[in-house]
Amino acid sequence: MAVKQRELATGQELLRIENLYTQFFTEQGVVKAVDGVSFSIEQGKTLGIVGESGCGKSITAMSIMRLLPEPRGRIVEGKITFYPPDENSVDLTALDRHSPEMRSIRGRHIAMIFQEPMTSLNPVYTVGAQITEAIQLHQKVNKETARSRAIEVLEQVDIPDPERRIDEYPHQMSGGQRQRAMIAMALSCYPSLLIADEPTTALDVTIQAKILRNMRGLQKQYGMAIMLITHDLGVIGQMADEVLVMYVGKKVEQAGVRNIFHNPLHPYTQGLIKSIPLIGLRGKKLLPITGSVPSPYNLPKGCYFAPRCPSAMDRCRQEAPSEVEAEPGHLVSCWLYK
Ligand code: SF4
Repeated sequence: MAVKQRELATGQELLRIENLYTQFFTEQGVVKAVDGVSFSIEQGKTLGIVGESGCGKSITAMSIMRLLPEPRGRIVEGKITFYPPDENSVDLTALDRHSPEMRSIRGRHIAMIFQEPMTSLNPVYTVGAQITEAIQLHQKVNKETARSRAIEVLEQVDIPDPERRIDEYPHQMSGGQRQRAMIAMALSCYPSLLIADEPTTALDVTIQAKILRNMRGLQKQYGMAIMLITHDLGVIGQMADEVLVMYVGKKVEQAGVRNIFHNPLHPYTQGLIKSIPLIGLRGKKLLPITGSVPSPYNLPKGCYFAPRCPSAMDRCRQEAPSEVEAEPGHLVSCWLYK
């Protein structure tokens, strides 16, 4: 019996997050890591989530995977509905995170890759042993079938000589190859959603470009959706269809990738774009966003971006803005648009 690839219909809703609140209960106080975030991901598309460190991008991913360090960090409100192809929808927040159902969703339907491959790869087992174990955990196949699928997927992520390299340990591979091996393990069971958390941040730019190209090719081949978490707008520009900008746990803007780059509405998004070098803007000065992200234990009243915002008004320091659709499909939370 072969490892089966599911039929995936591009454009269908795959995951819907409604009003998600994830908090950490620490000795210094409560940290609102994800603060009322809503969005959805469609099959076959890439949603890029961008923002500075600590803005809640990774915690959103950990909430979906139910990998939070509970009970210290937990989802306190909200719904995460997953629509697995050919199966009934399921609210992931209602599942026990250790349940067989949740374990089967993790890996089989939703896979995750991290910045550091050694987070996923065990240094004392060969890469092949780890990939075949993941396949056999989720699919009813024998060891030979799992091994040939592992070789196939290593080849798909451009590991040279996969029949031989499959028996190597992670330390025998270069950083870029380890990253590819981790992607291979994530893709081995044909997930419908791949969550990639800063997948290329630790790599040099040429390897990064190769891996991103490889991921795009595999997305087409597999029909899967990608949720791409990064602080790098260059990566977002290359990969994303839709972009969500987060600041201190909140979604501040969401739009198609062209709109985010050509018509950013939120002053924070505008600041992010002005602070990166873009082709065609030779001679223009890069302008950093002034100030720094507020402490999660001492958040300002009203809009969290007000202390750094060049357009802040009195109202901004009193009331938090709610989300408006400034133009079709372009959502923004800022008083300038109300
Ligand atoms: Fe700036 Fe006010 Fe908009 Fe916040 S609500 S981003 S402070 S203009």
